[in-house]
Amino acid sequence: MAADVYFHSLEPAAGQELLPVDPGPCLALMVDRLGLTGASRRASPWGLKVQVGEQGLPPAIDPAWARAVAEALAGPGAANSPSGAVCFDTLSITTTGLDQADTHLEMAMAKGFGSNGRGLPFLVADGPDQGDSLAVDLSGDSGIAQLTLASALKGFAGICLLAPVRPHPHAGFQGALVNMGVGLVDRAGKLLLHQDIRPKVNTPLCAGCGSCQAVCLFDAISMTAGRAMIDAKKCTGCGECMNVCFMAGISAEEAAGIPLFQKKVAAAALAARDTVSSGRSDRFGYFNLLVRLDRHAGRAKGRGRTRMGDVGVLASRDPVALDRATWDLIVARSGGPLDVWSGFSQEPGSLLDHAEKLGLGSQDYRLVEF
Ligand code: SF4
Ligand code: SF4
Repeated sequence: MAADVYFHSLEPAAGQELLPVDPGPCLALMVDRLGLTGASRRASPWGLKVQVGEQGLPPAIDPAWARAVAEALAGPGAANSPSGAVCFDTLSITTTGLDQADTHLEMAMAKGFGSNGRGLPFLVADGPDQGDSLAVDLSGDSGIAQLTLASALKGFAGICLLAPVRPHPHAGFQGALVNMGVGLVDRAGKLLLHQDIRPKVNTPLCAGCGSCQAVCLFDAISMTAGRAMIDAKKCTGCGECMNVCFMAGISAEEAAGIPLFQKKVAAAALAARDTVSSGRSDRFGYFNLLVRLDRHAGRAKGRGRTRMGDVGVLASRDPVALDRATWDLIVARSGGPLDVWSGFSQEPGSLLDHAEKLGLGSQDYRLVEF
């Protein structure tokens, strides 16, 4: 049976393009559509998976949007004290500052997360304060038998994943499944997920700008004769250099582990879902926010030529259906080959197929616009 995917457009009317959109009210409506209103009135809090985003940029998920979800989860009458929700994120392997618990927390506070003011409590779910990592077995033929999840997951009665949709070098785009299969995994687990990917520099395309060297957290890139070179022994496959190269001069070939990465992400997503409330599907809500798309695509400056701006919000109880619908929408809006928007040639086929095969959901969906 086709899974319902709810879509609310946030496309600006003519002449309104420069005004910032506020997805908060529509996120609250989505919580209701998913049947989650009042769900956080339980002994244990719900976790809201957010992304703090890089230094110098607005938060990838605005704290006010998370608060709108928390208030809807708490139900009518609890608008001033949605105490049943905690925002969280996990340590990064790509972004300076977000790779350490103390600086991650500082950046979150600086962007309005945290229980001061109207923010919600915020925690780094795999930080040292959360205790030992959570080892889980992986299903399917993903090439690894076990990995570690963020330990704070076990304390949540349910999770809402708020994914800021953006290009992803190894999966085409980042939506619910990447946000779950990578974003709920701890830092050591993220390194395992990426271990089969080794990007290469296409030397004739390299302009020698040094941006890739500046962002690599693993000191794997050096400049030789004005061109970037990657030390495969130090490289972790994180893909951040691919994100920043304005020449699209760094790529990871299919044979170098992309399908395997996508399979691992699907298996990790399933393990994470099964860890929280024994995988009860009424304890999850998935939200893909197609807002500020150009800002994120624009990280690879000059590559993404299609302008999509603010498109809208999609939500579902089925992460596979949600990502399938999101991808179809991106393809339709980009009006051409995907790399016109994302700068990457990867598509999420293995991720969606494997997630469906593992029982995470169905690619068959019914789009419900409101
Ligand atoms: S970011 Fe791209 S163009 Fe700049 S040095 Fe690295 S590979 Fe070369
Ligand atoms: S060289 Fe490897 S470790 Fe460094 S940013 Fe690129 S993919 Fe990540």
